[in-house]
Amino acid sequence: MAETSKDNILIRDIHTKNIMTKSTLPVGGYSVNPYVGCTHGCKYCYASFMKRFTGHKEPWGTFLDVKHWQEIKNPQKYRGQRVVIGSVTDGYIPQEEQFQNTRRILKQLKNSGAELLICTKSDLVIRDIELLKEFEKVTVSWSVNTLNEDFRSDMDNAVSIERRLSAMKKIYDSGIRTVCFISPIFPGITDFNEIFQRVKKQCDLVWLENLNLRGSFKQEIMTYIKEKYPHLTDLYNSIYNKGDRSYFKSLEMQAEQLAKDNNCPYTDNELPYGRAKPGHPIIVNYFYHEEVRGSENTGKRNHKINFP
Ligand code: SF4
Repeated sequence: MAETSKDNILIRDIHTKNIMTKSTLPVGGYSVNPYVGCTHGCKYCYASFMKRFTGHKEPWGTFLDVKHWQEIKNPQKYRGQRVVIGSVTDGYIPQEEQFQNTRRILKQLKNSGAELLICTKSDLVIRDIELLKEFEKVTVSWSVNTLNEDFRSDMDNAVSIERRLSAMKKIYDSGIRTVCFISPIFPGITDFNEIFQRVKKQCDLVWLENLNLRGSFKQEIMTYIKEKYPHLTDLYNSIYNKGDRSYFKSLEMQAEQLAKDNNCPYTDNELPYGRAKPGHPIIVNYFYHEEVRGSENTGKRNHKINFP
């Protein structure tokens, strides 16, 4: 039965046979989404396509299906496999505090030998530090595409950038591999150099990904830019209506230069799991990476199962 929470989220319970979904990507691996829907409600969320398959008519960010599943039967099956927690939701939305689905998954996979990748915009993951430390290979990634809290709060309902960065530091200091995922890069708004300088001592990897406006949210974002950043309207028109790639090409060159200037490895290829030299994170170029994925491009975060 559905109920509405005090913050007006429509919540219901659903049962699923298997919480682990095999990825259809060539690199293999699994994805786990403890919830359907995501109350972070980002305006640019590529995962909002999920609504089509789940029968939800409510606006993205205002509903949440809490999954129930039978305990993972043979966790050893996932030994050496890459398991992404949160490819079309965020495992650490505020409601996780109450439902603890993500924590349940961690407990069930504890001795499996799986490589974990957690993608979040929250600091609730700190709650699970001790549990995470029991995994041999685990990476926690935070999406940070601005240091400007006003722009951030225009775009999502997740915790502040300051809280994300402070969580990243705590997790990094506890010995867990961290990623600063600078995504989506908004032309003329996201300053990746500035973000890099803030995070370089507290992450192993910096991933860069352009804003892709092919989703149903394109119009909303274009209208937002027109109203709040009118001086960028022409730039957005040329990139998103005329297909001009020169802006992101030039950002790629700047990223490569940033890597050189800071003595950081730079790559657009998958690398084996490993930690970076402190203060010198590996910079990974995922610009226009969704096109490489082709028909697999069903969610913005799929590519993140490529452990750099
Ligand atoms: S982009 Fe991520 S955090 Fe934001 S609503 Fe989508 S799944 Fe949630």
